[in-house]
Amino acid sequence: MKKILLSIFILISTLTYSQKLEIIPLGVYGGGIESNLSSYLIGIENSKSYISLDAGTIRAGINKTIEYNTFDDTTENILQNYIKGYFITHGHLDHLAGLIINSPDDSSKPIYGLPFVIDVFKNNYFKNASWANFGNEGEKPIIGKYIYHKLTPFRTFKLENTTLSAEVFELSHVNPQKSSAILIQNNDEYVLYFGDTGADRIEKSDNLNRIWEYIAPLVKNRNLQTILIEVSFPNSQPEDKLFGHLTPNLLNEELTKLAQYTDSQTLKDLNIIVTHLKPVGNQIETIKQELEQNNPLQVKYIFPEQGKKISL
Ligand SMILES: [Zn+2]
Ligand SMILES: [Zn+2]
Repeated sequence: MKKILLSIFILISTLTYSQKLEIIPLGVYGGGIESNLSSYLIGIENSKSYISLDAGTIRAGINKTIEYNTFDDTTENILQNYIKGYFITHGHLDHLAGLIINSPDDSSKPIYGLPFVIDVFKNNYFKNASWANFGNEGEKPIIGKYIYHKLTPFRTFKLENTTLSAEVFELSHVNPQKSSAILIQNNDEYVLYFGDTGADRIEKSDNLNRIWEYIAPLVKNRNLQTILIEVSFPNSQPEDKLFGHLTPNLLNEELTKLAQYTDSQTLKDLNIIVTHLKPVGNQIETIKQELEQNNPLQVKYIFPEQGKKISL
């Protein structure tokens, strides 16, 4: 009997230990197509409990997850019960419109963000002139469905109703406008998600450099094997018309800095999930080609598709 109990215990611990993160994109573009804008569910595989990283598109993305058999449930149940909270990187509509529009049908949950993001909800969207106030602070009447969690950079916090924790960092998105990034932790596994960001050289900032230095040990130890980061424009976009975004060349420029804190070999096969492509003309194909054809660090580029699970 003791032996059986011991084997069951070992089996359960192995199962718990091997629970990996998965990412389910509800929207992948950085503008244009209103039914497919930045939003990524992250959680432990098959746990049915996720945090939505940005929320540009929600319902149309959930419907795609059902169409592709990623989830086998109703749209309402996925919206209300699978999504345990939202982390919003900055106040631009392509990162939060889905949350606002679906708020009447959603359940009560936290919205995590740096104080400047929470201020945008309070001062611009959850205001009677724009929409009812579904937040728990700000203009009256206060419905209080969403509970604001104002975060502090570089400080670990728990993501409620999940087993995950996280830390956030500030980004520059057309200086002095800000955006943010989040480092999600599941035991010894980490995933880093960036909101919109310009390159340090263009933004005259050292925000990305600070993040690269900070995460380098995790990359070296292979605890961090997946980064979601934007590439909005092809290389032909003039540097004075980037509006706080990256091109394939600028992403390489930034990853090279990360490599200097680790070593170039460490970045080989690092998963880079490319977000926020702007669907103008045939620009998306150009961006993909430019990334694949000039990949000196041999990272592994992944182009996410709405509704299709990415297992890590
Ligand atoms: Zn955006
Ligand atoms: Zn933006």
